[in-house]
This record gives sequence, C-alpha cells and structure tokens, in this order.
Amino acid sequence: MALNLNKRILVTGGAGFLGSHLCDRLVEEGHDVLCLDNFYTGTKHNIAHLCAKPNFELIRHDLAQPIFLEVDEIYNLACPASPVHYQYNPVKTVKTCIMGAIHMLGLAKRVKAKILQASTSEVYGDPAVHPQSESYWGNVNPIGLRSCYDEGKRCAETLFFDYYRQNRVNIRVVRIFNTYGPRMHPNDGRVVSNFIVQALSHQDITVFGDGSQTRSFCYVVDLIEGMVMMMQGPDDFVGPINLGNPGEFTILELAEKIIHFTGSRSRIIFQPLPQDDPLQRKPDISLAAEKLKWTPKVNLEEGLERTIAYFKAILNIL
Ligand code: NAD
Ligand code: UDP
Repeated sequence: MALNLNKRILVTGGAGFLGSHLCDRLVEEGHDVLCLDNFYTGTKHNIAHLCAKPNFELIRHDLAQPIFLEVDEIYNLACPASPVHYQYNPVKTVKTCIMGAIHMLGLAKRVKAKILQASTSEVYGDPAVHPQSESYWGNVNPIGLRSCYDEGKRCAETLFFDYYRQNRVNIRVVRIFNTYGPRMHPNDGRVVSNFIVQALSHQDITVFGDGSQTRSFCYVVDLIEGMVMMMQGPDDFVGPINLGNPGEFTILELAEKIIHFTGSRSRIIFQPLPQDDPLQRKPDISLAAEKLKWTPKVNLEEGLERTIAYFKAILNIL
C-alpha cells in the first residue's frame, strides 16, 4: 500500500497576503489545507481560486476565541501586519497575538501538531545593532503606538518557547522581515503597495520623514519557501530564525525605483515620520543559510516588476 504523506495543515490568517500564497503552495503539494481567517485584513478574493479544490477548506473564525480542530501542522499567521491596520484597534492586535498564540499552542499540544509562528523583525524594534541577527534582543518601546504589535509578537515568541520547554510542543519560530508582492491589498498601507498604487495613479508619493530610513525587502515567493523549509526542517532546530532579503534600501531609493519602473509622473512629497518608526532594518540571514540552505533568489528590481504588473491588472491600468 502506498504511504500517504499528505498532512492536514491549518493556516491561520490564510486569506491574507502571505497566508494565501502559503495556502497555494500547500494545496499544490496535495496537503489537506484548512484556511482560518476572520477577514480583518484578508479577503475571500485572495483564496477564491482555491475554494473549489477538494483539499482546501475555509473556516471563518476569530483566533482570539478558542477552536477545536484535528490537524498535523499549524502555520500561525493571523494578525494584521501593516502599521496602519494593527494600530487601528491596538487592543484587538494584542488579543490576536497573545490569545491567538495561546489557542494555537493549546491546540498543538492537544493533538501533538507541529506549529510555526510568523514572528517579525519588529521584535528588534528600532535596532541599535545592524544588521540584526537572532541573538540581538532588540530595542522596543513597550508603551508606544507600535507596541501592540511589537510586544504582542514578542510575548507570542515567549509563549512558543514556554510551551516548548514546559509541554514539549514541537515549535518553529520565523522572524519575517518586510515582504512584498502580489495580493497585498491596495489600501494595505505598507510602503511598497502604497508607492506602487500612488505611482500607477500618478498621485504624490508619500515619503515619511526624509526618506533616509532603510528597509530590506523580500519577495513573497522567497519568503514562503523559507517558511516551508523551516517547518520541514529537523525538530532540534526550532529558531528563532530570520527570513528576509538582506538587500538594504532607503525609502527614498524605493520611491525613485518605483517611479522609474512605472514611468510615473508622480512627485515625491515628504510627510512626518510616524512615532517609533525604525531608522534601519536589515536581516542577518547567515543562520538560515547555514541551517536551511535558504537564501532569497528574487532581487528588488525583479520583484517590483512582478508586483507592479499585479497592481496594474487589479487597478485596470493598461
Ligand atoms: P495580512 O494582514 O495580509 O494577513 C493577516 C491575516 O490575518 C488576514 O487575512 C487577517 O484577516 C487575518 N487575521 C487578523 N486577525 C485575525 C484574527 N483575530 N483571527 C483570524 N484571522 C485574523 O498580513 P501578512 O503580510 O500576510 O502577514 C501575515 C503574518 O506574517 C502576520 O502574522 C504578520 O505579523 C507576519 N509578518 C508579515 C510581514 C510582511 O512583511 N508581510 C513581516 C513580518 C511579519
Ligand atoms: N512609509 C513611507 N510612506 C508610506 C508608507 C510607509 O515613507 O506611504 C515608510 C514608513 O515610515 C517606514 C517604511 O516606509 O519607514 C516601511 O513602512 P511599512 O509600513 O511598510 O513597514 P514597517 O517596516 O515600518 O513596519
């Protein structure tokens, strides 16, 4: 009899930007995928093409509430990721991060599932160490506008490691650095989608501060590959591990590139820098390279071209 290697995999936040790409990948591999989402920032549109597949199921549920399921693996992605959205209802963001982690870890413990947490470079805050490696403990304001997300994600990491030590739950923790690509919502509020939408509609490009702050941008396909590799990796390597593209750009450079690639008539305008906006960010990915043999393949120019093509199509711009 042939061995059935297909697993029952829960993806929380599966209707969001990253979650929907992850669902695509897992459905394609033949697993039984349960996509759980409350559509806070995600949309049915992102996973509509999967709904007719026999190995895909959609559950509308808020992760701040418990849920009882039988699964083999859990990817815990549910949480708004754009500063605009996670600051809209900060108390809800904390509940999603912490209650969501508790509910998913409890589920993993009960059914002995392997569980991966989508953590973030925001655990490093406004980093005093550059580039950021996993051994850096960060520089986070505990009471600022970004704290609901930063501290929520930090506490979720704590819970993961406590369930690991105390209950032997089989965990993985990945720290995701700024990732972009098709299926970001046009009103997502993050910098890549904002600038592309502004450029394609020839509106002013809104650079916050003087644009000298840096970010490192990872294309979504590379990120999903790293996340799946981490889940499938050996049980004695649980992370945390950085996943991101170390190519570092100022926000002004990003604006100029997007204007160039879109052939836009947009002007760059400068607006106040939001509170606690990190001045620099770049992942040290040597651990991922060593342990997973993972490095990103898509450079910023190529990734931007693919993302611009997506936004042109959905905004109906020829
Ligand atoms: P996203 O906002 O597109 O997706 C988040 C999804 O979670 C959405 O579908 C949303 O509806 C869902 N969700 C939110 N609260 C929920 C709740 N209480 N119950 C159920 N579902 C809920 O964001 P994304 O970029 O796809 O991010 C996915 C995950 O990856 C997040 O946990 C985020 O913190 C993490 N992450 C992303 C990035 C990035 O650059 N994209 C960087 C670091 C970390
Ligand atoms: N940013 C900007 N204009 C925008 C949106 C964002 O200049 O319209 C800046 C923001 O201030 C930050 C960087 O771009 O310095 C990345 O912002 P984003 O919200 O994408 O993610 P963050 O890394 O700050 O969580």
